[in-house]
Amino acid sequence: MIKIENLHKTFGKNEVLKGISTEIGQGEVVAVIGPSGSGKSTFLRCINMLEEPTEGTILFKDQEVTTQASKIQQVRKKIGMVFQHFHLFPHMTVLDNLTYAPVTVNKTAKREAEAAARELLKRVGLADKEGEYPGRLSGGQKQRVAIARALAMNPEVMLFDEPTSALDPEMVKEVLDVMKSLAQSGMTMAIVTHEMGFAKEVADRVLFLDGGILVEDAVPAEFFAKPKSERAQAFLEKVL
Ligand code: ADP
Ligand code: MG
Repeated sequence: MIKIENLHKTFGKNEVLKGISTEIGQGEVVAVIGPSGSGKSTFLRCINMLEEPTEGTILFKDQEVTTQASKIQQVRKKIGMVFQHFHLFPHMTVLDNLTYAPVTVNKTAKREAEAAARELLKRVGLADKEGEYPGRLSGGQKQRVAIARALAMNPEVMLFDEPTSALDPEMVKEVLDVMKSLAQSGMTMAIVTHEMGFAKEVADRVLFLDGGILVEDAVPAEFFAKPKSERAQAFLEKVL
């Protein structure tokens, strides 16, 4: 589904990604973990061209994700993204948050978009919130709306950047449960997370980044039981 070859990203003199190569297969769930500042967000943002790679290539279904604006638009439609801080449209109701992109970008008929949105709200357990404004929702509810909004575009891949890091502890599970059921439905997912239990249980592979280098690319059972590198060992000792 996604093939990343020799991905470099430099901000000024700061080389944040130092040649990352990996693949994400269809239906695969990949957890991206590593210390703060290791380049996890930048890595995710390069996949849908929120950041332009300095060097290297990213292929989405064998098509190169280029810097050409029209092509970026096409690819982005197929790649949903969920952020730590939700990024909902505050002045729109929950339902309008979900229908906005399908109606304006995909030219879906409003009524059709609303029907699909209501199904998605059911799926994330928020059927009764369609007329609510984001400001009146809890963090966990906001994040579930954000996931539903991304799904409203019928993406083929979902990217999550620390989706539970801004949540109060009691709301983490409701969001992880939605992500887990999405994973079980066969969605291709890349998730930056500090939830090691979730990564272990749900991910098919773990990518461990440190200092902009992909230090380990392993199955969770092996990675968490016995990471190969000292850097991963030290990281796990701190977080587990
Ligand atoms: P992580 O998500 O693993 O914490 P990031 O990808 O956010 O790491 O950041 C890695 C490094 O890149 C940091 O040193 C950060 O300051 C730098 N960085 C990230 N985004 C930008 C940007 N837009 N401009 C300049 N530097 C950035
Ligand atoms: Mg980050």
